[in-house]
Amino acid sequence: MKSTRLCLACGNAFAPLPHVPQQRYCSSKTCQRARRRDWQNNRLRIDSDYRDNQARAQARWRTGHSSYWREYRVAHPAYRERNRNMQRVRNTRRSFKPIAKMDVIRLPGPLSSGFYVLSHADDASVAKMNAWTVHIAVLSAPAAPPI
Ligand SMILES: [Zn+2]
Repeated sequence: MKSTRLCLACGNAFAPLPHVPQQRYCSSKTCQRARRRDWQNNRLRIDSDYRDNQARAQARWRTGHSSYWREYRVAHPAYRERNRNMQRVRNTRRSFKPIAKMDVIRLPGPLSSGFYVLSHADDASVAKMNAWTVHIAVLSAPAAPPI
């Protein structure tokens, strides 16, 4: 009896090819593409040589195709508009004066290691919404503030 297993990409049952006993993705084009993408993402994460190589290859490609993205943006106005909107959001976030900074000044003493509730400064007025519990380990204390 042939054993079947579940594809990591689509979740469907499949029988591994006889010459690929460790096969984890089914043979469909989409899942094979997912397998290569997963392999590459993992490789980029764990292999700094591979990462550097990819960065150099991409930089080389960009110098040979310097007008690619300019032309792509002209040909895809929706893409261009989406990028502009996202950049506006990033710019707004960047210029936002974080409330947390003022709280740091009001701390009774230096920050100590421990568990804290962290929330985005935009949500600070709506306390406890989208908040994370984080552990902060203090590695070095800041220098004393100038008086
Ligand atoms: Zn599949």
